[in-house]
Amino acid sequence: MSSSEPTLPSSLRLTVMGSGTSMGVPTIACPCRVCHSSDPHDNRTRPSVLLSGNGQRAIIDTTPDFRFQALREKLDRLDAVVFTHAHADHILGFDDIRPFNLRQKSAMPVYASAETLAILKRTFAYAFTGQQAVSTIPQVILHVIEGPFELLGTLWKPIAAEHGEMKVLGFRVGGLAYLTDFSRVPEESKPLLQGLDDLVIDALRDEPHPMHQTVTQALELVKELRPQRAWFTHIAHDLPHRETNERLLREGFPNVQLAYDGLSFEVRA
Ligand SMILES: [Zn+2]
Ligand SMILES: [Zn+2]
Ligand SMILES: [Zn+2]
Repeated sequence: MSSSEPTLPSSLRLTVMGSGTSMGVPTIACPCRVCHSSDPHDNRTRPSVLLSGNGQRAIIDTTPDFRFQALREKLDRLDAVVFTHAHADHILGFDDIRPFNLRQKSAMPVYASAETLAILKRTFAYAFTGQQAVSTIPQVILHVIEGPFELLGTLWKPIAAEHGEMKVLGFRVGGLAYLTDFSRVPEESKPLLQGLDDLVIDALRDEPHPMHQTVTQALELVKELRPQRAWFTHIAHDLPHRETNERLLREGFPNVQLAYDGLSFEVRA
């Protein structure tokens, strides 16, 4: 894959790095049965996906579990980081891009909205002083997302969504849309969610939450958008994997399943 002329990929591969909510599952000190489940699908690290294509790899969000996720998936190269928003469960692994800086002898391209970049710079101020550091610090090339951009030899279209009061981004890449952490998709974003093969969306739990979709709300959106397949993510400990999948089937959604850590599938580019 060292050709200087990138050939457009016909397919990409998506790998779910983490499918859990902000505290992860199991949650620290929680006695509930999902947190003590013996089913490995009920172990959910913080939410992130990896996209591979054209010999390159881009990760969406660097969670507090990024190091563990990268080791688990034997990630030996990373070509870009894309951020959805700057909540702690999506950015706190940012410092762990350093091994890729060292190994690849280059700064990491980082794509995010201006608001997200501002919080990233504040949270990781030591990486943005512009001065030579005595120890290793993350080295980045910042790209402000203001519209579609190219990565992995294909076009990424940002999808604006609302996460409570906060503005967040999802991404449409070929036949895939990844939309974590949202409570509402504005009408103007819906054209970007038509004709999908795979829709990966926020479905926190059944109990309403001001910043996340419930299972029922997520299913309403699936009915409206009619993707070939839908995968729920950012899942809390309220939803046991196997039982929830059986319930989705019973309720007439054979094409909707909970995502899980390590899930991987081909995506139309
Ligand atoms: Zn989150
Ligand atoms: Zn629990
Ligand atoms: Zn969030």
